[in-house]
Amino acid sequence: MKKLIIDMDDVLVDTSPKILKIFNALNNTSFDATFFQKTDFYTFTALPQFQTLHTKLSEAGFFRNLEPNEHSIEVFNKLALKYDIFVVSAAMEFPNSLEDKVYWLQKHLPDLSWKKMVFCGDKSIVKGDVMIDDHMKNLSGFEGEKLLMTAMHNHLLDVPYRVHSWLQVQEILL
Ligand SMILES: [Mg+2]
Repeated sequence: MKKLIIDMDDVLVDTSPKILKIFNALNNTSFDATFFQKTDFYTFTALPQFQTLHTKLSEAGFFRNLEPNEHSIEVFNKLALKYDIFVVSAAMEFPNSLEDKVYWLQKHLPDLSWKKMVFCGDKSIVKGDVMIDDHMKNLSGFEGEKLLMTAMHNHLLDVPYRVHSWLQVQEILL
């Protein structure tokens, strides 16, 4: 079986809406996701007039009750019949997220063994045949086939291997 590496935030999990909601609440703003189709999210939200989100993301519970990305669970379960899937999350950035992420995976993917859950720092050590991620910092050093999942913060990246949805992932990999 080919080894498939799948990310959590903004790939399996619909994380951006909560991040945007908290950003707006902290800063008394009302930006919606479409604004960031033409404006780089990280550059914009790092402007000095805005409060940083880092403290909120570091809180226990932030990653616990997020919704799955549309069709992610159904397509994951189909892919699991054909691929050896590892869920790989750079969770060490937020140590309090570890328990939340295990909880989330056990709730939404109850058949996924703990041996297939990989929480790490730098993903450049990860090897496999296919990687689905929303960050170029994770994909760029990967030696296999890459798929960049469209997310609020990556619209401006020009890459030939972008996918916009899990249904598109299904078309490509099944
Ligand atoms: Mg991610």
